[in-house]
Amino acid sequence: MSKYTGSVCRICRRENLKLFLKGDRCYSDKCAFDRRGYPPGQHGQRRGRKISDFGIQLREKQKVKRLYGLSEKQFRLFFKRADRQKGETGINLLVLLERRLDNVVYRLGFVNSRAQGRHFVRHNHFLVNGKKTNIPSYMIKVGDTIEVREKSKKVQTISDSLGAVERRGVPQWLELGKSEFKGQITGFPVREDLTMPMQEQLIVELYSK
Ligand code: SF4
Repeated sequence: MSKYTGSVCRICRRENLKLFLKGDRCYSDKCAFDRRGYPPGQHGQRRGRKISDFGIQLREKQKVKRLYGLSEKQFRLFFKRADRQKGETGINLLVLLERRLDNVVYRLGFVNSRAQGRHFVRHNHFLVNGKKTNIPSYMIKVGDTIEVREKSKKVQTISDSLGAVERRGVPQWLELGKSEFKGQITGFPVREDLTMPMQEQLIVELYSK
């Protein structure tokens, strides 16, 4: 499937949930979901449409895939990996998605969105355990340190984003040293840490057909 290049706000409206894909704008009164909280398109405001079980499972998968900004192929690979692990596949999947470097720099507050995280990781703004790492899908491990490179500390977007980190909050499995532009992975997230409404079991059911 080709990469989605349309308006990201349409994704929130389609999934009927604020997915916070656009950084600061999501917290402002310009948020398209707050202004028009119904699905996009000509029939978006039509009521009473019956959705099949398959449709519900599909929407859930699309929502989580789009939240983390992945293609169908990438998402399937994550699912396969989660399925091979011990424990509940759905929870394994969410934890794997959270461990991506582009997500972690977002969670630490160095950037405003996962898409920005991906962009900044690719442009070498971060060090993982002191080494340049420019792979957004890099999987962090417990004990890893993530820091902003010395010359990147002057980048306005990074300092602005860190300045607003309290608004979003840093999850308990990460530790942020704000003044040092540095974070540490103190553990992996547990299901309760992932507060965005997600029904991972529906994704498992969809892919198990
Ligand atoms: Fe979604 Fe953010 Fe757009 Fe609002 S501003 S619709 S939360 S991406």
